[in-house]
Amino acid sequence: MPDATKRAFGAQQRQSGASMKNLEGAVVIVGAGHAGGTVATLLRQQGWRGPVVVLGDEAAAPYQRPPLSKAWLKGEVGLDGLLLRKADFYDQQRIEVRTGVCVAAIDRAAAAVVLSDGERVPYEVLILATGTRARPLPVPGAALPGVLSLRSMADADRLKAALATARRMAVVGGGYIGLEVASVARALGVDVTVVEREARLLARVASPEIAAHYQALHEAHGVRFAFSAAVEAIEQEAGRVVGVTLADGTCIDADLVLVGIGAVANTDLAEAAGLACRDGVVVDEACRTSDPAIYAIGDVTRRPLALYGRDGRLESVQNALEQARLAAADLCGKPAPVREVPWFWSDQYDAKLQIAGLPFDGISRVVRGNPAQGSFAVFHLTAEGMVQTVEAVNAPAEFMIGRQWIGQRHVLSASRIADCALPVKEIAA
Ligand code: FAD
Ligand code: NAP
Repeated sequence: MPDATKRAFGAQQRQSGASMKNLEGAVVIVGAGHAGGTVATLLRQQGWRGPVVVLGDEAAAPYQRPPLSKAWLKGEVGLDGLLLRKADFYDQQRIEVRTGVCVAAIDRAAAAVVLSDGERVPYEVLILATGTRARPLPVPGAALPGVLSLRSMADADRLKAALATARRMAVVGGGYIGLEVASVARALGVDVTVVEREARLLARVASPEIAAHYQALHEAHGVRFAFSAAVEAIEQEAGRVVGVTLADGTCIDADLVLVGIGAVANTDLAEAAGLACRDGVVVDEACRTSDPAIYAIGDVTRRPLALYGRDGRLESVQNALEQARLAAADLCGKPAPVREVPWFWSDQYDAKLQIAGLPFDGISRVVRGNPAQGSFAVFHLTAEGMVQTVEAVNAPAEFMIGRQWIGQRHVLSASRIADCALPVKEIAA
């Protein structure tokens, strides 16, 4: 079948709401990360018969990033524990994983991607799973060797080596990366100061109650904080980092700086190819982009958030896995999987934070349990009393049931949620 006909075939299927059915075509996946590795596997499981090629610019086969700021950094897990699948799995599944190759462009007219060495790889279906990159800190000194960020296994190896000899670390950014690394650094005996631009921690991702709890937890472990603080420069002597200067003139001594100030979506390829992008590649419910032959999944997408009646970009493993399932089902003509409630987790010291739902439209928050005892949950309710979000610290039962309530759009009374004498399963009774 000629390329143009194949693409038109895809478009026709899409308009009818069904999947693309040419299961013999070549699928090329750009990005050998959590989403890319997973969708390749799912395509085979769901009956895709044609070539499946995964192109990734990192050295390793698809692996999980969460342990990079946790068990991997502490040396508690090796490569086998990080990889999504063992090396021989892809051969057995006839999935070609090409590592160390960078896709430089998409030639939509010819339905091919162009690698950085000029090689062209033709596709019938292209899946973009290019993820995000660490946002750089735009200050003098940010390029010094002792200033690190954390996105990849190579970054984590550099950080691990630096932590082995560091005495004082400044962490720029009080988000997940900054706090998870701070907790590992304290366990290794490194002095830590976190510099946060906002007035509190986890400003983008968690409630003030959770932020206050995590601040106290870190302070109890000896971490210091500078809030509402802007980094002006990273100071050096003889090419080595010696500190971080803030806008108010304060200088924080440090021989290592970790920058964790958020992630930027890798939309460059998609934008250059003319796909609709808006802080993320814009996709529909089935992960289809504005080009019928191109899907996008994972951190790089701006996706519909059905439960919330809007769109957004989610940066989580759950999102990568869900979109891999949605895209594979659509391509293979299978029924769309059930919509999931977004969820996240973070491990710091002995505290497990689990969050379900997104904090839109919540007008009140109810705390169940006692933060001082290290186990509690914060429920966000809409004006109608519908549960929008649950944030649970060492409270797995509240997390699990909260996730169900969000999906079922349960309306609950705040006083029943807060009443710890009532078993969690009886709150909604
Ligand atoms: P990625 O896993 O980032 O994969 C994208 C891949 O595409 C990368 O390998 C990239 O190098 C490659 N690529 C990009 N452009 C090109 C190109 N042009 N050519 C070839 N290859 C390309 N989420 C949670 O839910 N819980 C956690 O506890 C958690 N912890 C995390 C800890 C760390 C340190 C980090 C960095 C992230 C963490 N996350 C966590 C987020 C989670 O890892 C991401 O949401 C997930 O990896 C997204 O998967 P992805 O496949 O979309 O992107
Ligand atoms: P993040 O959660 O967005 O947190 C970054 C924090 O740094 C924000 O509070 C941000 O404030 C602040 N900041 C931004 N610019 C700053 C500056 N110049 N100086 C000081 N503070 C500044 O991002 P992250 O922690 O870097 O994480 C990056 C990615 O890794 C995300 O995709 C994240 O989801 C993922 N990750 C997830 C987990 C997890 O889920 N457990 C763990 C690690 C990493 P503003 O909000 O004002 O910008």
